[in-house]
Amino acid sequence: MSVSRSAPPRRRARLACALGALLLAACGAEPQRTVVRPSIVYVSLDTTRADRLGLYGAERPTSPQLDALAEHALVFDAMRAPSGNTLLSHASLFTGLFPRAHGARPAGKVAALPDAARTLAEDFAEAGYDCAAFTTHAEWLSPAFGMHQGFDHFDASRDAAPQVLQRVRAWLDARESERPFFLFVHLFDVHSDQHGRPYAAPESTAGRFTQPPGEVARDWEVEPVGGSLFLRGVHRGYLELRPGEVDELLAQYDEGLLALDAEIGAFLTEVRNERAPRAWISVSADHGEEFFEHGSPLHYSLYEEILRIPWLLVPPARAAPAWATPRRLAAPVSLLDVRRTLVALAGLPRASADHGRDLLPWLRGERGPPKPTPFPLLTAGLIMENWKLVRPPGGAWELYDLAHDPHELNDLAATERGREPLANLLAELQRLDEEHVVIANALHSQEVRASPELDAEAQQHLEALGYTR
Ligand SMILES: [Zn+2]
Repeated sequence: MSVSRSAPPRRRARLACALGALLLAACGAEPQRTVVRPSIVYVSLDTTRADRLGLYGAERPTSPQLDALAEHALVFDAMRAPSGNTLLSHASLFTGLFPRAHGARPAGKVAALPDAARTLAEDFAEAGYDCAAFTTHAEWLSPAFGMHQGFDHFDASRDAAPQVLQRVRAWLDARESERPFFLFVHLFDVHSDQHGRPYAAPESTAGRFTQPPGEVARDWEVEPVGGSLFLRGVHRGYLELRPGEVDELLAQYDEGLLALDAEIGAFLTEVRNERAPRAWISVSADHGEEFFEHGSPLHYSLYEEILRIPWLLVPPARAAPAWATPRRLAAPVSLLDVRRTLVALAGLPRASADHGRDLLPWLRGERGPPKPTPFPLLTAGLIMENWKLVRPPGGAWELYDLAHDPHELNDLAATERGREPLANLLAELQRLDEEHVVIANALHSQEVRASPELDAEAQQHLEALGYTR
């Protein structure tokens, strides 16, 4: 399925002023004004966990192309997603709002991103950019869920990277305008598959890291339950993993990464060398993936294997600003910081208030790194400086000292040392949540769009991917 449609006229966010007052996040820098506005190519790699990529320390050569790109990039070493859900994280990326504040909801009381929310694409569209999106989660990253706001071209499909990138190339080739563009490309290739191997890989990389069928590796051609359903079955306890099978699942996932890396690498090399050498490139993910580190598969929880994602910001191959020297950046940042940062980078007027931070003054060397700010994880967690509060689905609150325990192995919730931080974080999470719900209510009270309805096929597709509704 592929749809392309024009965005409806953008409704003015009548609540802008009121929302500005509600939002605590202070805006970062003064407006940056430059004469030539750069184009932006944004690639969002669904389900891509940072530490499986070579540039973030993976042992296997899963990402030679991205590793090479990182040599030219500002690489953020501590980038986090605010959720493990495709819709929630992308809506946060687009709006700079925490998920409870933008209020988009993929399940339960389903809700679209409201029109009153201001998006990154709307920022660019208002500044005269051509804005195009190519997404591959046709259910959630869709006009039905309000994710098209600001894009004048929106292509939603379930296609794999080679097909999608061909259409992206065609869009770039067909452009005649001299205007700058904001191009958003979302690729779903490494997400668990519906059938067969839980993590599919094309022929080009299948078998590169995985074992042939035997004692550890299954023959997925004949397994009665495969794909995401297999992982869910293990999660729920009615299927069992074989000894060594977690490593095999990781090997499958890594083969998918390697194949995606080749597609992305070829495309972004073209962008840098020929198609748009003056464009900035941004590569991130919406969430990672877990492999039973804390007992679960897929991306149900909010442990660091879900939250830690890559972010590469690659200066234009031609006429890059002098400050944009390739380097690693250690300070914690998040998907919510992207909107204000890209708006500033492009020299647009300062973005309207949101929860993100403009990182540009730091990147330009005009200020120190951004101060840590409380980072709520829906209603199930909060990160404040070194402390992380998290509640796994159906479990009790856990507390970790990330400075000394980055893999969240030593739960301090029931210890004397953890007593005070636990109480503080719980109180802060409740306070933030109440504040965010006020914002969501204000945004959604202006809503004219009915709740999205998923047709039977879409519903079936979501369930097959491992999303229970
Ligand atoms: Zn996702």
